[in-house]
Amino acid sequence: MASERENNYRQLAKGVRPVSADCIFCKIAAGQLPAEVVYQDDLVVAFKDIRPVAPIHVLIIPRKHIPDLTAITPEDKELLGHIHLVAVQVARQLGLAECGFRLVNNCKEEGGQVVYHLHFHLLGGRQLRILG
Ligand code: 5GP
Ligand code: ZN
Repeated sequence: MASERENNYRQLAKGVRPVSADCIFCKIAAGQLPAEVVYQDDLVVAFKDIRPVAPIHVLIIPRKHIPDLTAITPEDKELLGHIHLVAVQVARQLGLAECGFRLVNNCKEEGGQVVYHLHFHLLGGRQLRILG
């Protein structure tokens, strides 16, 4: 049986984005699960976190299923740049650009990652504490 990665490459070759069947963020990106979307385009979706830890807590995800930051490849360079541009745009949209904000990725177990679809937390709306 073909591995998930092989299947993903096949889908890419056919112009279909790789998605993971049991991934909640793939489902949100596909509109199969509800979310409060604040921005979306062909490459990314930004939506409000269901359990916010700050007055503004948005998750920015690629539509493509990448499990965690260590799984990125040189092919994803443009996507990662785009995610940062979108983060700044969403920060402006939500009134965070002047006072500032935090953009965080939790990577794997010790980094505190719970959902294994790459995402960046955009946090703001109050003075944030030191990390760690
Ligand atoms: P992680 O700990 O993996 O970096 O962050 C996962 C984040 O996803 C958490 O902040 C959690 O509250 C959020 N989350 C988990 N499930 C859902 C969901 O179904 N909808 C939304 N909007 N956020 C979710
Ligand atoms: Zn996914």
